[in-house]
Amino acid sequence: MKEIKVRTSSKDGMHDITAKVKALIPSSMKSGICVIFCEHTTAAVTINENADPDVKTDILNNLNRLIPFVQPEFLHREGNSAAHLKSSLIGCSLTIPVQNGYLALGCWQGIYLCEFDGPRDRQVSVTLVNS
Ligand code: ZN
Repeated sequence: MKEIKVRTSSKDGMHDITAKVKALIPSSMKSGICVIFCEHTTAAVTINENADPDVKTDILNNLNRLIPFVQPEFLHREGNSAAHLKSSLIGCSLTIPVQNGYLALGCWQGIYLCEFDGPRDRQVSVTLVNS
């Protein structure tokens, strides 16, 4: 297992970690899977478009509209329930096929660490499984 570290700089954001993940795939890996796991309860990992940055903005704006950070009915004392909800909604792991040393991502796909309660230091683990 390998680790990717990300220092986020704002309350929320989508940080492209595609290059960092690709750098961990050995060229000798012919066929297998790459498991990406976010080790946090107020962050997440997802795959989405990496061409138009407005997609990230639209995703974050709509998540914030659906789950406002302050809601009177939240019970969690830390005050960041919205971030916990978004983390579960987006998810904590990804599985990506690996072929001939490359991640088999689609043309427009990028891998993102999603921050929902930053700024913080975040860690994502990367596990490679040969098949
Ligand atoms: Zn909390």
